[in-house]
Amino acid sequence: MIYKRSSALFVEAQTVIPGGVNSPVRAFKSVGGDPIFVKEAKGAYLYDEDGRTLIDYINSWGPMILGHAYQPVVDAVVNKAQKGTSFGMPTEIETDIAKLAIEMVPDIDKIRFVNSGTEACMSAIRLARGFTDREKIIKFSGCYHGHSDSFLIQAGSGAVTFGTPNSPGVTKGTAKDTLLADYNNLDQIEALFKANPNEIAAIIVEPVAGNMGCIPPKNGFLEGLRTLCDQNNALLIFDEVMTGFRLAKGGVQELKNVRADIVTFGKVIGGGLPVGAFAARNEIMNHLAPLGPVYQAGTLSGNPLAMAAGLAMLTEINNDEKLFARLEEKTAYLHKGIAEALTSHGVVHTINRVGSMISVHFAEDEVVDFKTAALGDNETFKKFFHGLLAEGIYIAPSAYETWFITDALTYKDLDTTIHAVHKVASTL
Ligand SMILES: *Cc1c(COP(=O)(O)O)cnc(C)c1O
Repeated sequence: MIYKRSSALFVEAQTVIPGGVNSPVRAFKSVGGDPIFVKEAKGAYLYDEDGRTLIDYINSWGPMILGHAYQPVVDAVVNKAQKGTSFGMPTEIETDIAKLAIEMVPDIDKIRFVNSGTEACMSAIRLARGFTDREKIIKFSGCYHGHSDSFLIQAGSGAVTFGTPNSPGVTKGTAKDTLLADYNNLDQIEALFKANPNEIAAIIVEPVAGNMGCIPPKNGFLEGLRTLCDQNNALLIFDEVMTGFRLAKGGVQELKNVRADIVTFGKVIGGGLPVGAFAARNEIMNHLAPLGPVYQAGTLSGNPLAMAAGLAMLTEINNDEKLFARLEEKTAYLHKGIAEALTSHGVVHTINRVGSMISVHFAEDEVVDFKTAALGDNETFKKFFHGLLAEGIYIAPSAYETWFITDALTYKDLDTTIHAVHKVASTL
């Protein structure tokens, strides 16, 4: 057994942590087997507790866009840590990172920092509700906006249905205020606005979906959401926790040239420390406490350690004019290589990609929403996952996850990966 030490650590962890993990996606539930315990990481590589080196395609689920232990971020954190990690008082660095984020992201005047993407999205809908004085929100099946109650709602079998909670503990009262639609389906949004006149505060959407594999918005989808929100005086919230500072300096707003009313961030914005943020125009942000009546707070929000990591990360991204072109080229190269490998072995597949987000679906048809994503063959995925792992390639342990490409990957790493895909494909 290769993973002797990891498995022993997992047994130990399970005695004191539910399921042995502090976030369920880390367990190998949908692929089987025990999760791998990491010792350290540098650049594009993970070094695990069993002494193996893995090429990492998760990168902490997105944040490590420049690679693990990226030196300018490490230096910023180490330097700050020596001067105190949290004061619960304002610090200048909070203004510095806020100014930089506002410069990079289109059309935002103010930004508030929190500790996770979950908090950012939870606060964004409270702000939208407070601003519009309406209670309902629309979300899309298969889009993930963190684990706060309002978002843990799944579609029933109907195309458009009132939400029923998909976790015990979420009340029916909360669920009834979350309306659902299929991704890329504007007709359903139009119908929801008609059925709930003057009741919908906001639509929240991953403008490029990344939590059911990577699913690009169809042409006109984001523009259509913008128009429908304007016609119905509802706010459009782009959840850019995954896409922000990854697909472009200004996220999907810049990439697709569609403006949201509120934008949420997480992952990359924290440079690998726990950070989230939400931002909007003055007219909306001025509704937040202490300026306005909508309450939102956090003991560790904007702490200097997290801000130092985030500022170092955003500064690197902002100063590197070629970063996104490089990421695009590397991911396109990988895309082509994987497609050729799978095709040459007759493996039915669909690959979705936007910039440095890519997902491989073992499905025949185009994957455009949660339903089509769910048609993928999970047995094939399991073999693919474990096959790649045996070759030293670490992808997310679920068919519903996107791979996050880091700039630390070399073309040699990509060739190694493509070679591994060839080898594994011949066994599928
Ligand atoms: C990861 C993610 C979240 C939740 O962020 P956490 O930091 O895990 O709470 C929210 N929205 C999207 C789109 C995400 O990918």
